[in-house]
Amino acid sequence: IGTGYVGLTTGACLAHLGHDVVCADIDEEKVAGLSRGEVPIVEEGLGDLVVEGIANGRLRFVVGSFEAVSDCQAAFLCVPTPQGGDGSVDLSFIETAAAEMAEAMPPDALVVNKSTVPVGSTQVVERVMQRRDVAVVSNPEFLREGSAVQDFLFPDRIVIGSDDRAAAEKVASFYDSVEAPVLITDPASAETIKYASNAFLATKLSFVNALAAVCEGVGADVNDVVKGLGYDRRIGHQYLQPGPGWGGSCFPKDTSALLHIAESGGYDFRFLGGVIAVNEEQFSRVAEKARHAAGGALAGSTVAVWGLTFKAGTDDMRDSPALSVIDRLLADGATVRAFDPTVAAHRGGLDERVEVGTDPLAVCGGAHVLMVLTEWSEFADVEPDDVAALMAGRGLVDTRNLLDRDAWTGRGFDYYGIGR
Ligand code: NAD
Repeated sequence: IGTGYVGLTTGACLAHLGHDVVCADIDEEKVAGLSRGEVPIVEEGLGDLVVEGIANGRLRFVVGSFEAVSDCQAAFLCVPTPQGGDGSVDLSFIETAAAEMAEAMPPDALVVNKSTVPVGSTQVVERVMQRRDVAVVSNPEFLREGSAVQDFLFPDRIVIGSDDRAAAEKVASFYDSVEAPVLITDPASAETIKYASNAFLATKLSFVNALAAVCEGVGADVNDVVKGLGYDRRIGHQYLQPGPGWGGSCFPKDTSALLHIAESGGYDFRFLGGVIAVNEEQFSRVAEKARHAAGGALAGSTVAVWGLTFKAGTDDMRDSPALSVIDRLLADGATVRAFDPTVAAHRGGLDERVEVGTDPLAVCGGAHVLMVLTEWSEFADVEPDDVAALMAGRGLVDTRNLLDRDAWTGRGFDYYGIGR
């Protein structure tokens, strides 16, 4: 139920594993496109699996959950769980979907909560559905956008939360052909594992960004520091790349939700509050670098931005750090032109004043500062001379430490990286 990043990946992968899958969405246009094999998001390998599923008859798409669940053994809830006004989780999509499914589900079917939901949501779904024969099981999803298919088919672990052992084992059986440790817990623990994972990853990123600030202060190079740090097997290299701050559709809302969950459990999770605060500071630190690169003030300057998505490999701009940085540049009076390989035209979330260009060089004309905000590898292939010939200034802020610093400074650019 829900054919977004998680629902479509889940549906297409379960069909690939040999199950019969019906994917439901309330977006009629999306369903029509998917039925023709048109995948509306950028996600490696997903299009092939959708086409494969349609061709072998294991995968189809319908409007609304009612039809999808009428003949199912299990319904995977993959609807949004956005942040509510007070930072807690808005469960209205879950409740609406559960109410729709309640009347149509056959006896003894299962509801599997794949959406990221706070502790207690299993009971919320049970309460809404009022179906004693239908067990509600938590099965949080850990896929990363950009490698969603790979992550689903080759996960680090499968977590299943239920007080009903038979129901949990039934859900585990859907993943029989997936090789991964299966952890069966109570629902509260499964729900907590998901938030804990995202909060820990966000912590690593805030840690490395704070460390980058230390490196700048003492003249160390964070790239080398992180290399040395990561060789420690207790620490590892992953999620230790400094950047413009973390974002995306999950980390901001999930860290905020965990603060609320902790509070409702009687604990003031100040540490996590610090992780979030360091991230907000990072957006401002990056904007400050742009100010320096522009010669002290951004008013009247033009900034060319490379990268809008929250990371490379996806077209998702939801809560992208690029947008948080761009908002600060605009507030300072800069004119911003941006290019991203997956963003063809202006769209939601991006300030209307930002002009979107069609190639990296097109946005550089007359710019005083160039900023790299997403780590698309193709940006590293652009010739510094080609950019220099177009720009009015020589400011360069590389928030992903992606470009060859020596090559760009050698061409006269005033290079600002992160933590170097
Ligand atoms: P999304 O916004 O990409 O997709 C959600 C889909 O659900 C949309 O297509 C929407 O139209 C549909 N929908 C809403 N209400 C519906 C209803 N009543 N019936 C049928 N369809 C309905 O969301 P997403 O990024 O796939 O995230 C879904 C959940 O998974 C969230 O809880 C999220 O936190 C969690 N999650 C996301 C990721 C990720 O990387 N995106 C990873 C792990 C977990």
